[in-house]
Amino acid sequence: MAILPIETEREGTNEILRARSEEVKDILAPEIRQFIRDMHDTLANTDNGIGLAAPQVGKNLRIFVVAPALGLNQTVFINPVITKVSEGKESMEEGCLSVPGLYGQTPRANSLKLEAYNERGRKFKMKADGLIAQLVQHEIGHLDGALFTDIAERLTEVKKK
Ligand SMILES: [Zn+2]
Repeated sequence: MAILPIETEREGTNEILRARSEEVKDILAPEIRQFIRDMHDTLANTDNGIGLAAPQVGKNLRIFVVAPALGLNQTVFINPVITKVSEGKESMEEGCLSVPGLYGQTPRANSLKLEAYNERGRKFKMKADGLIAQLVQHEIGHLDGALFTDIAERLTEVKKK
């Protein structure tokens, strides 16, 4: 699958990346299972990507996947809901596969709790802090049409050689 950029010169802003995604109703449907496998493959083929949300590959569904290398118990998050966020915020460097070449210091809650369903349709709860909390907020942002560039404090452009 191709990862869509937020802007192209020819087509302007990508509306899928700016829309609110819909809940997945039938998690075990064969096309959802295949879509999740394709998302994992697509993420694995990126240079440094650690998370990928469905709108980034053209579908407004509430799904994101994270890299198995992070060592989390779950790598697929379907219909995720943040149930608690810390008041404390931390600003960390962030980038996005849909915004190639831009990085920025992005303030995020430094810990949170969430609930989601995995690819087997089982509900799970997770506590996250640091990098994982940042990642979860970034990915759930995608499901609501938000990008890190909306809240980043300053952006730096890194040109690809
Ligand atoms: Zn992103």
